[in-house]
Amino acid sequence: MMHAERLARVRAAMAERDVEALLLSVGADLPWLIGYEAMPLERLTMLVVAVDGPATLVVPRLEAPRVVERPEFTVRPWSETDDPLDLVARLARPATQVAIGDRTWAQFVLGLQQRMPAARFGRASEVTGPLRAVKDDAEIEALARAAAAVDRIAAALQAGEIPLVGRTEAEVSADLGRRILAEGHHRVNFAIVGAGEDAASPHHEAGDRVIRRDEVVLCDFGGTMLTEGGAGYCSDITRCVYTGEPPAEFADLYAVLQSAQAAAVGAGTVGRPAAEVDATARSIIEQAGHGEHFFHRTGHGIGVEEHEDPYIVAGNDQPLVAGNAFSVEPGIYVEGRWGARLEDIVVATAAGPRSLNLVDHDLVAVDA
Ligand code: ZN
Ligand code: ZN
Ligand code: ZN
Repeated sequence: MMHAERLARVRAAMAERDVEALLLSVGADLPWLIGYEAMPLERLTMLVVAVDGPATLVVPRLEAPRVVERPEFTVRPWSETDDPLDLVARLARPATQVAIGDRTWAQFVLGLQQRMPAARFGRASEVTGPLRAVKDDAEIEALARAAAAVDRIAAALQAGEIPLVGRTEAEVSADLGRRILAEGHHRVNFAIVGAGEDAASPHHEAGDRVIRRDEVVLCDFGGTMLTEGGAGYCSDITRCVYTGEPPAEFADLYAVLQSAQAAAVGAGTVGRPAAEVDATARSIIEQAGHGEHFFHRTGHGIGVEEHEDPYIVAGNDQPLVAGNAFSVEPGIYVEGRWGARLEDIVVATAAGPRSLNLVDHDLVAVDA
C-alpha cells in the first residue's frame, strides 16, 4: 500500500517533468520506493519505472532470492552471460527523457548512454528528492525510534557509563558503534570521536589519540534502523562531554553554541526558508565573535539517507514544509585548541518544530 502510493506519486512527478523512464540502482531512492536495497557490486541491479507502464526490477539471478516481491513491480533476474544493460535499455525503450539514480555507478550510466543514444539523461533526485524530503507519519516514527536509540547512548555517555580517559578515540568510536547496533540499528554509519584539539576538526577520523583528563570529547554518531517496509531510517546526533570541570572560556563558548542551536531549532517552522534556520544559528555565533569558527552549513535533511534534502544552508530559500526532517548542528571550532558541536534531528510540523533528540543539551562534566 505504502509502496503503491509512493510509486503513484513518483509517476506523477515523472509526468510533470516529461520523464518517461526512471532508472534506480544503488542509493536510497530504491529502498524508499520499493523496500529493496541494491547490493553495491559490479553486477547491475536496476529498477526500470515507465511513466505509464510497468515497473521492473532487473536483478542478478543469484541475488533474486533476496528480493521481497511486491505487487508494484515484477522481478526480471538476469544470468551470468546476459547483458543487463541491454535488458534495461530494452525495458526503457523508447524513452527519450530518462532520469537515473544520482549514485548509479558511472560504468552503468556510460553503458546505458551508449545503448540509448537518443535519450537525454537527467538526475533521479529531481523526481524523487522533493518527495523524499516530505516524510509521512510512518517515516517520522521511524526517525523518532532511531533518534531515541542514539539518545540512550548519549545519555550513557553523559552519565559517565562509557569509559573515556585512557582510551583512544578509536576505542570509544568502536564502543559507540557496538552500542548503535545493540540499540537496534542494522548498520553503523559513523561514530566521530574528537578529543581536545581534535574536536576542532568537524569530520575528524577517530584515531590513536588517547583521551586525557580535563578536555572536551565530541561524539557525533548514527546508524540506520530497518523498518517493516524494507527501508532503513537514519539517526544522527552530536553531544560533547568534558572529562573534568570545563574552564570558563570553554563553558562560555559552549553556552554560545547551545543558545545558537536552540534558536535555530525554534526557527524550523513551516513556511520559513531553510536559509533562515542557518542564519539564526550563524548570527548568534557571529555576534559572540566566533563567526570565523563556524564554517559549515547548519544542517542537512535526513531519512533513508544520512544527508538529503532539505539542506539547511545559506542560499536555500525553499520554505520548510510539514514533514521535512533535518539536522540542526552548528559548531564552533578553534584550530589547534578545541571545538564543540551540538546536533539534533528536527521535524517541521504544523504545530511547530519537533526535536526528535531530547537528551540533555548541556556540556556535561563526566568522570569517565
Ligand atoms: Zn552528526
Ligand atoms: Zn548531521
Ligand atoms: Zn571563536
